[in-house]
Amino acid sequence: MKLFVAGMAHETNTFSPLPTSKRAFEELLVRPKTGQGLDRLGDAFGYKDFIRLGEQSQMQVTKSLFCAAQPSAPTLQRDYEELRDEILDDLKAAMPVDMVLLMLHGAQMAQGYDDCEGDIIAKARAIVGPKVPIGVELDLHANVTKAMIENSTVLMVCKEYPHIDFDKRAEQLFDLCLRAQRGEVKPVMYKFDVPMLGAFPTTREPLRSFVGETTAMEGKDGILSVSLVHGFAWSDFPEMGASVVIVADGDMAKAKALAETLGRRFFNMREEIESPLISLDQALDQALAEPKGPVVMADRSDNAGGGAPGDSTYFLEAMLKRGVKNAALSMIWDPMAVQSCFDAGVGATLDLRIGGKTGKFSGQPLDVTAKVTALAENPRQFMFGAVSPLGRSAAIHVDGIDIVLNSIRQQTFSPEAFSELGIDPAKRHILVVKSTQHFHGCFAPIAAKIIYVGAPGTLSTNYLQFPYKRMPRPMAPLDKVSL
Ligand SMILES: [Zn+2]
Repeated sequence: MKLFVAGMAHETNTFSPLPTSKRAFEELLVRPKTGQGLDRLGDAFGYKDFIRLGEQSQMQVTKSLFCAAQPSAPTLQRDYEELRDEILDDLKAAMPVDMVLLMLHGAQMAQGYDDCEGDIIAKARAIVGPKVPIGVELDLHANVTKAMIENSTVLMVCKEYPHIDFDKRAEQLFDLCLRAQRGEVKPVMYKFDVPMLGAFPTTREPLRSFVGETTAMEGKDGILSVSLVHGFAWSDFPEMGASVVIVADGDMAKAKALAETLGRRFFNMREEIESPLISLDQALDQALAEPKGPVVMADRSDNAGGGAPGDSTYFLEAMLKRGVKNAALSMIWDPMAVQSCFDAGVGATLDLRIGGKTGKFSGQPLDVTAKVTALAENPRQFMFGAVSPLGRSAAIHVDGIDIVLNSIRQQTFSPEAFSELGIDPAKRHILVVKSTQHFHGCFAPIAAKIIYVGAPGTLSTNYLQFPYKRMPRPMAPLDKVSL
């Protein structure tokens, strides 16, 4: 049996000030046919599991490209097409194949393409014909489109936010596609649109129980898979939004009925499952009133993992104004300031301009007098077991606050984003992380309290600040919607 695997992932934020070229995809690129990036294979979520499962089942596995870029603006057209065509050319060369497994994101856009995944899957379908199973695994922050559903055999998203289950979903997808290939099941899919925007952590109730309940439906009574798709609110195009996707065994009416029932329940819990956001000032009041630290404060609006620059200064400015001490913040993306710190050396005190450089939602750059406390050429943090290099980084101390400045733009995933630069996160009263929810897995064990903060920024959930032009309306919470 011949299995073809490939992957490409980018969460596209139409409002991000950061352009996306082929270079951005080189940060995590594995190209087995040339040996490029094989040392990062273990970090290639989903894709590495497809390969493992295929090889364990004695399949002949054709490994095409895997690449992933930090969220940012739509990819340049020629660069997207070049990466896509490499995958499709590999597929043509591998034909005939018995099964195709693709690890994609679900909210990828390029110049000239609203729906990159729909485009890739449709073109793959045209190559393999109607009978070969195509299995697609996506991030739950997907805007699932008609083209994705029509051209894949089984499509599912991860269930957890933070996304700790890409490997489990890869196993489920592999198993279902193999059974479909053998004719043991006949997957049919139905998508029910849920017109809402939001960020919905699965670590909190009532969503925690809803995920448990819907997962328990799988494998029973003809239901093969249930995907609660959260949508990605910053991809402005006509098919954006949340949805429920049901894969049933041969029974479309059953898939449709369940998708509608669960979709309405998902929609009706939208206000309860959105993490409670409070303003920066209220959040600092709460944190300072806590007798015990560390209080972990999530600067959700400047999460690079959703396409924000990661260099906003609103949070730091507010803490400096209020004279907050014994606090640490990781990270501000500022390669230029990092260079100055390297030139000054550890122990030096210098006047430094930090952050606020990238876009109108980054705030003003801050002019501070900083003491350089640590420098590191290649510090790393961990993202669901995978390694994420921070790039050349510096730690500085400004008026009682330790700040990590780094060079490879990304959100804060794990406490190593502090400790690799000599800052002991457990000993600080306040820790500020630029992340929406993915920090939760690694920081919850050391946190006395976690506060989600609605500071200004590129990923603010004040959706009215964004110039949406193509979003389908009505859409909650912007409009009154009845479903
Ligand atoms: Zn996601």
